[in-house]
Amino acid sequence: MKPQFIDIHSHLNLSDYDADREETLRRAQDALVWVINVGVEKKESQFAVEIAEKYSDGVYAIIGQHPTSEEDFDLDFYRKLAKNKKVVGIGECGLDFFRKPDEKSREKQIAAFRAQIELAIELDLPLMIHCREAYSEALVILNEYKKKYGDKLRGDFHFFAGDTGTAQKILDLGFNISFTGVITFAREYEKLVKYVPLDRMMSETDCPFVAPVPYRGKRNEPLFVKEVVSKIASVRGEDFEKVRAQLLQNAIKFFKLTV
Ligand SMILES: [Zn+2]
Repeated sequence: MKPQFIDIHSHLNLSDYDADREETLRRAQDALVWVINVGVEKKESQFAVEIAEKYSDGVYAIIGQHPTSEEDFDLDFYRKLAKNKKVVGIGECGLDFFRKPDEKSREKQIAAFRAQIELAIELDLPLMIHCREAYSEALVILNEYKKKYGDKLRGDFHFFAGDTGTAQKILDLGFNISFTGVITFAREYEKLVKYVPLDRMMSETDCPFVAPVPYRGKRNEPLFVKEVVSKIASVRGEDFEKVRAQLLQNAIKFFKLTV
């Protein structure tokens, strides 16, 4: 089935969907929404691949370790898992200094981030970046790799919540920026949604978190990515169909998907 939308960052691999994972995926597929489930640790990464393998198309996996994970980064595990054809990216990885980690925890985050950047370059896969209260630190590291590897370094900043200046630095790096349902209820994102060029942004749900209006407070799911796309169109004052088609094209190109 040809997609109409792609939820480029969802977590149907989490236990929140244990009771109705198949039905949730079916609702997305019936609505022509493709889904990319994102790992946070080894178990969820493995499971994201298993879910993707059950479907011939429309379901993919990104594998990696979240910056707040306590696990030791297992390079061999991820390198092996990434050989699966359904793996389209490495992450979500990055830096998260929101809870003011001590020096040792910061070092650990940075080491795991660097290992995943290097793995993504080695395997020619894009990075799915999670970054919170650490944009400048993350950008220093990424620019270092950019100098060395050029366009081989590719990635997306998911759930972006920085300012337009930071957004510009990310765009200069050649990375994309993706938005979640938070833009449907938090007005401070409007400036950003207008600022990022339409051909450099993607849509995501980050489900089960941050359900968009009108599903606020409920468990989120990939189907609701439509609301994110619709909000992007209305904030920018652009035609919904034009925005939908462009965001779809951006994701297909970014993850090199076959439709
Ligand atoms: Zn996530």
